Amino acid sequence: MAKVRSLKISISGVRGIVGDTLTPPLLIRFAQSFGTYANGGTVVVGRDTRVSGEMVKCAVFSGLISTGSQVIDCGVCPVPSLQVMVRRLNADGGIMITASHNPIEWNALKFFQPDGTYLNSQQAEELLDIYHQGEFIRAAWKGYLPVRIEENVFQHHLDIIKDFVDVDVIRAKKFRVAIDCCNGAGSIVTSQLLKELGCDVVAINDIPNGIFPHNPEPIPENLTELCKLVKEKKVDIGFAQDADADRLAIINETGEPLGEEYTLALVTQAVIKRKPGTVVANLSTTRALDDVAKMYNAQIVRSKVGEINVVETMKKVGAVVGGEGNGGVIIPEINYGRDSFGGIAIVLQHLAESGQTISGLVKTIPQYIMIKTKISCPSDKMFSILRKIAELYKNENLNLEDGVKINFPDSWLHIRASNTEPIIRIIAESKTKQQAESLCDKIKQQIAEM
Ligand code: MG
Repeated sequence: MAKVRSLKISISGVRGIVGDTLTPPLLIRFAQSFGTYANGGTVVVGRDTRVSGEMVKCAVFSGLISTGSQVIDCGVCPVPSLQVMVRRLNADGGIMITASHNPIEWNALKFFQPDGTYLNSQQAEELLDIYHQGEFIRAAWKGYLPVRIEENVFQHHLDIIKDFVDVDVIRAKKFRVAIDCCNGAGSIVTSQLLKELGCDVVAINDIPNGIFPHNPEPIPENLTELCKLVKEKKVDIGFAQDADADRLAIINETGEPLGEEYTLALVTQAVIKRKPGTVVANLSTTRALDDVAKMYNAQIVRSKVGEINVVETMKKVGAVVGGEGNGGVIIPEINYGRDSFGGIAIVLQHLAESGQTISGLVKTIPQYIMIKTKISCPSDKMFSILRKIAELYKNENLNLEDGVKINFPDSWLHIRASNTEPIIRIIAESKTKQQAESLCDKIKQQIAEM
């Protein structure tokens, strides 16, 4: 298999392993690039709880200050809260220091536009051009501004969420809720939101020390402790977040994880039953969303994979809800970004209004089995393979916007090049595990013969 390198500079930002490839000089240079890109304007900076966060933050501040930027420090905060603050403070941009769901030794920089959304691919290319050319703004000593510390980072975000839902309806239910924040950025805010919604909170891993007790990706295999807690404490629902708290996973009252795909399906159902409108999801998200949209006569539009692609499509079609099947819920009235807190509030409201249990609610949504796999592939062969797959399946219902998506009557396959590794990702979804597996096996065999 081709070597996976531990530094990735791409349009998604820069990501590496601290103590190895993610070094202070590299971080300073990136911050100088962003300060230059933002024209020496105001830049809001936040970080997740990772132990390396303080080193990365100091390097980022140094680079930004050298370009004459006004740095506003939001400290440890979830990525959706940072996005809200970039907007609220009328900043010229934002930087989040987080490697999201990646293991503890990783860290990364993510860059935001003045409206709080991620840089799109053209903007990110422009930033990378500045980085490579090294022509940074170099402010003179008189142009260096002291860092401003923002004290009130969360309340505004929580207020927006509480304005969107019916707080009284949720409070009246006095839900018992279990949470696992993986000692990440959600640790500071999630309990507070739940208490403001009148919930009795049973929390694990909500100490914001950045020592992750398990892999922070909120997928079922990493959530066994939370599942056990839900069962033992007899709570109504369990929630898990990744380290920067943009992704949300749900555990039902019997301790079963719903699978991340069903976070967006439930939230979509909750939103469009109140407010009919278009739904946007990326091409790799479950077909259960199409079924939910159909139930409420809503239209669904598919976008390329990547949060900013979903957001830009949502803006174009005026969607009322959207997101990604990895537990990334986007509700424009709260935030044009994946927001686990918005997801928590709207799911609780859905639960309260329905009068059902969470497992009862999920039964109203058709169930599918999704299988994700990957195969290594040299970067120079990637696109010829995708072209050959498209040719092989040309008589099927194809979407070629992002790799090859093949829509069969009762299943689908999505084959795309990874943005970050020399691999081809393969996702299959079907009504049965056996059928999804056989779709994956067949395409792998076909690729091997190409
Ligand atoms: Mg994340």
